[in-house]
Amino acid sequence: MSYDDQNIFAKILRGEIPNKTVYEDDHVLAFEDINPHAPVHVLVIPKGPYTDIGDFSANASDLEITAYYRAFPKILDKLDLTGDGYRVIANCGINGGQEVPHFHSHILGGTKIGCMVSK
Ligand code: 5GP
Repeated sequence: MSYDDQNIFAKILRGEIPNKTVYEDDHVLAFEDINPHAPVHVLVIPKGPYTDIGDFSANASDLEITAYYRAFPKILDKLDLTGDGYRVIANCGINGGQEVPHFHSHILGGTKIGCMVSK
């Protein structure tokens, strides 16, 4: 899948669509999901143009990958999720149910999240 620079998260990164930012640095943006599925629902995206976790892990620089994962403890701390726990999900492609083709991880918390997949 080639990267579509008209996807919603690319527009958020360009400042064309507002977002509720939780955390930002040179390589990473974390913001509240517009349609939360839990009391805390935050999306964590790299600023580079990567479609999914496979693309990101294969093609991002070591600096981008390190920055992405090193941002998590800072974000989790800000969201006060480290005590009671949380879930991180990365939907990929059609079977994964990915709607926005810019790599992102969902952080869900603030309650027991329930089954990992619906039956
Ligand atoms: P996916 O299904 O691709 O894993 O998740 C995409 C997520 O992006 C969904 O949870 C959806 O609610 C969220 N989303 C879609 N459009 C927007 C938007 O314009 N702003 C924000 N903050 N979240 C969005």
